[in-house]
Amino acid sequence: MKLILLGAPGAGKGTVAKMLTRIDGSVQISTGDILRGAVQAGTDLGTEAQGYMDRGDLVPDSLIMGIMEKRLQEDDCKTGFLLDGFPRTIPQAEALTELLEKLGIKLDMAVNIDVPRDVIFDRLCTRRTCENSDCQAIYNIKSMPPKKEGVCDKCGSAIVQRADETEKAIGHRLDTYNEKTAPLAGFYQGKGLLRTITGTSSEVVVDAIKKELGI
Ligand code: AMP
Repeated sequence: MKLILLGAPGAGKGTVAKMLTRIDGSVQISTGDILRGAVQAGTDLGTEAQGYMDRGDLVPDSLIMGIMEKRLQEDDCKTGFLLDGFPRTIPQAEALTELLEKLGIKLDMAVNIDVPRDVIFDRLCTRRTCENSDCQAIYNIKSMPPKKEGVCDKCGSAIVQRADETEKAIGHRLDTYNEKTAPLAGFYQGKGLLRTITGTSSEVVVDAIKKELGI
């Protein structure tokens, strides 16, 4: 499957993407994960992106398109891909349309996961992430704590609160989402590709996607 997952930070895009990868081997491509990996590895990309990310601002479109142009041409994307956190601005969406045309790739749909703002805010404040850039497993101290406090179940690394998941940064990320990313729903609606799914349960969202795809 070839999907774009739209929705605010904390809407569940990452969880839904991981569940979908198990269906047909399509790969999850999370620009946030790629950028956090670059920050940890101390690459030029990471150094350039870190300030924007810590403030909850978007990284410039040119950096993101550089990453995605390469990533979408890697072999593992042939089976399919789930774009998680990209595109995030209209210029990114326009550049993606051009890139996919150039590569001869057709999207199945853009899924907009619609979750109320108060639920999102609460989820992000209580979310914790494995600090190992190869793992980045997600936990929630209220609803999905690790078995041992502060330790990742999957790889044993420390679980931390992301710098951009303080209340102040979260408020700013949600405002940025409303201003820059929410208009993408209209963009994909205009292309006849948008499906909006309202639901706070990832299982319900995945079932709805499967139904739309007829699988
Ligand atoms: P995420 O994990 O998707 O919430 O992304 C974390 C941060 O990475 C965002 O707040 C942005 O600073 C940056 N980021 C991730 N994806 C993008 C994108 N497509 N465009 C611009 N910045 C991005």
